[in-house]
Amino acid sequence: GGVRAGLYTDSDQVAILTPDNVDAVLFQSPSAALLEFYASWCGHCIAFSPAWKQLALDIKEWKLAVKLAAIDCADELNRGVCVRFGIKGYPSLRFFPAFSSNDSTGEDISGFSRDVPSLRHLIIDKLESHKTPTPPACPPLEQTSAREIDSYVENSGGQNLALVFEGNDSYVGREVILDLLQYENIMVRRVLRSEEELVSRLGVTDFPSVYLYNTHTNFTRLPVLREARAFYSYALQRLPGVVREGKPRPEESDFIRNHTEEQWRPFNKTRVYMSDLESALHYSLRVELASHSIISGEDLTALRRYISVLDKYFPGRPPVKNALKAVNDWLQKQEGTSINYSDFRAALNTRSTDSYLPKVERWVGCQGSKQHFRGYPCAMWTLFHTLTVQALETKSRDPQEVLQAMRRYVSSFFGCRPCAVHFEDMALESMNRVISLRFAVLWLWSHHNQVNARLAGELSEDPHFPKVQWPPPDLCPACHSLKPSGEHTWVQEEVLSFLKNYYSAQHLLHDFLS
Ligand code: FAD
Repeated sequence: GGVRAGLYTDSDQVAILTPDNVDAVLFQSPSAALLEFYASWCGHCIAFSPAWKQLALDIKEWKLAVKLAAIDCADELNRGVCVRFGIKGYPSLRFFPAFSSNDSTGEDISGFSRDVPSLRHLIIDKLESHKTPTPPACPPLEQTSAREIDSYVENSGGQNLALVFEGNDSYVGREVILDLLQYENIMVRRVLRSEEELVSRLGVTDFPSVYLYNTHTNFTRLPVLREARAFYSYALQRLPGVVREGKPRPEESDFIRNHTEEQWRPFNKTRVYMSDLESALHYSLRVELASHSIISGEDLTALRRYISVLDKYFPGRPPVKNALKAVNDWLQKQEGTSINYSDFRAALNTRSTDSYLPKVERWVGCQGSKQHFRGYPCAMWTLFHTLTVQALETKSRDPQEVLQAMRRYVSSFFGCRPCAVHFEDMALESMNRVISLRFAVLWLWSHHNQVNARLAGELSEDPHFPKVQWPPPDLCPACHSLKPSGEHTWVQEEVLSFLKNYYSAQHLLHDFLS
């Protein structure tokens, strides 16, 4: 025994330490680490854990320079580690500079505040105070000067240079520098208001503000919705020519298909296509389910719930709606404890002129630049967002109906098993708190964003469709705002009305349907 459920899971960006990996994460590592020692039964730790998770997501881009970690000292297996570090109370934070030696116990951080911005600033202070050796991946964080910039511009070979102008006690510059750490072909430096030569050369009057600097006569202000970290980083990461390290530069030629492949279908990136939704149904009902030849128990319940919400809420063309209704009716009539997939398929494929589900997989908005990108998983998200919005529009009685159907479908059938595990982690944590249809729409939106944050930069990311916190400022300006502290915040009411329109039945495009 001894293994307890800790406060963090693999779905969080927090490195979960155990006796097996603790040395590798903390010692002789090229990145610094900030480690939380906690006990899963401790109320303060439970209260602190959302901030720690949020911080980990917030500084995910920084992880080559600094990682967040956590260890559960209430787990018997970890007790030796916690004793070795002399931990007496929870939660305790220890900072380990890069290349800490094997006997280091880290620097104890006492009296830390529990909000994300303060913790983030603390990390920056720690990174700056540990000068030698700095994490090799950590870019220079100190302010720059006119002289340094001029010599850099002469030698840089045309890579983008962004200058963050800011007040003397601002952290925005260093945050943006670290947010861009994993991006190539861009260098970000910060200039303090007190650096008069550069300030007057560029005629800077707003602090903070960002300028793209080519030469001392050629510079432009970076246009952003708000003058704040989130907007700067988003805009800089998407500048032409800026790419994530190790990722091939997206080429226009990716879209030119040879004759053995399906031709690229140009589409409107701001719309949802019925073809994706129908293709998701086709794939899920005819391909994914087909690998379960007998469906029983939990899986049968999952299938019933899934088909039932499709019947109720799928905003389909009349024959598709009829086909879903027919399958649902058939399923309701099955009284045994199991069904054969072949019978289900027969019911699904019973076709008439006014009732059928097209047998095509034709991705449009969910096309990937390569065969293995996007497609089905993209269309599954799209399908369930659409269903949560439809449930809201039609004033369903049960606010959790669609989400629970999705949860069960994913858990029983979704072919990507690690995805299913991650999704279940998120569902377990908070799905039962969804008490209204509006909240259901927003729950799926915010958790999809958590997945986006986790997957940004992964191999599975299509370089032409980078994972962003969605909808980005250019798609929904009103969705974004700033707290008085300068932190980015979502305007949930605006997000909700955006989603209600974006995923509404009336707004769906019917191009490319057969
Ligand atoms: P997707 O993330 O699939 O999004 C599809 C479309 O939805 C986007 O193009 C955008 O128009 C819109 N959208 C994006 N974000 C939001 C939002 N927050 N709210 C509303 N609409 C939005 N892959 C893994 O590698 N690991 C995983 O653990 C994992 N878990 C998954 C769990 C589930 C339940 C599903 C359905 C998929 C999961 N995937 C996972 C796949 C991954 O999330 C993507 O679907 C896949 O990488 C394709 O990405 P995409 O760029 O097409 O965008």
